[in-house]
Amino acid sequence: MKTYECVIIGAGVAGMTAAIYLKRAGISVLLLEKGVPGGQINKTSIIENYPGFKKIDGPTLAMNMLDQVQSLDIPYQYGNVLSIEVDGDYKIIKTDMETIMTSRIILASGRKPRELGLSNEKKLLGSGISYCAYCDGMLYKNQDVVVIGGGNSALEEALYLADICKTVYIVHRRLEYRADDILVKKLEKYDNIKPCLGQNVIEILEKDNRVSGVRLSDNSILPVTGVFIYIGQIPETSFIEDLITLKDGYVMTNEHLETNIPGIYACGDVIKKELYQISTAIGEGALAGTNVVKSLK
Ligand code: NAP
Repeated sequence: MKTYECVIIGAGVAGMTAAIYLKRAGISVLLLEKGVPGGQINKTSIIENYPGFKKIDGPTLAMNMLDQVQSLDIPYQYGNVLSIEVDGDYKIIKTDMETIMTSRIILASGRKPRELGLSNEKKLLGSGISYCAYCDGMLYKNQDVVVIGGGNSALEEALYLADICKTVYIVHRRLEYRADDILVKKLEKYDNIKPCLGQNVIEILEKDNRVSGVRLSDNSILPVTGVFIYIGQIPETSFIEDLITLKDGYVMTNEHLETNIPGIYACGDVIKKELYQISTAIGEGALAGTNVVKSLK
């Protein structure tokens, strides 16, 4: 069985940062990821509030970080964690590929997009429904699309789509956005962005197994070919719900970013906290990594 001093679950920005701190301190560390390195930032078209980069797209920032991880020869591999068992100081991680033993774990599994929950949402994924404007936006060039949600993600991605698509409707259930003022002001400058506030999408219409429109709560229909859903995110914690103390699905940690289980730490979007940003995830990755080093030495 492979054995490490620390295994990091999730290679988003928090996990990669923790890995860099651990490796530089001489700790044997494994970075496990079930998706794409970088996590959620791969779905972010433009980042303008991460100091040092006036403007950078998410996938480029993710690749820059992965480059740094690889330059340090940090072991990085695919693995979908199914369960964690604790046996004193040792933790046994079972993935869909193998069993790994470690003394410390850093949970950095992040979050995934929240779904609307409409009946044909899953079926039409990739046939008009998307959770990633940056990945799929070009497929809707010069077409009419709708972005659902009123947070920073929805507004950022609506702005990105507005340069590609003919019309971008924004459907938000309240009359005010929950986004940074700078984004709201930018939005107002676009003639092809059409807000539909105080509305919900109650039905996704389809023709020939593709999206053909959406019905709003006032019964009006937006004739769109693309639906981009940005209604928040939910933490990826189902594999630890019987072991770790959670609140609203998020991992609870103390000021050292340690969970209720000694030797298991957490950082990034998976933890319960006040601010979900790249900058905070990186700070927590550094802190969790440093505290693991202290606990091992
Ligand atoms: P968010 O801030 O939680 O916003 C989710 C939006 O979706 C809200 O407007 C919410 O409406 C709406 N919503 C939730 N459930 C819904 C439902 N069932 N039906 C319809 N609408 C629904 O999510 P986010 O935009 O993904 O951002 C997540 C976090 O990352 C936030 O802390 C955000 O600030 C941060 N973030 C920051 C940046 C940046 O700094 N540039 C960029 C992206 C994300 P209500 O307002 O009515 O609840």
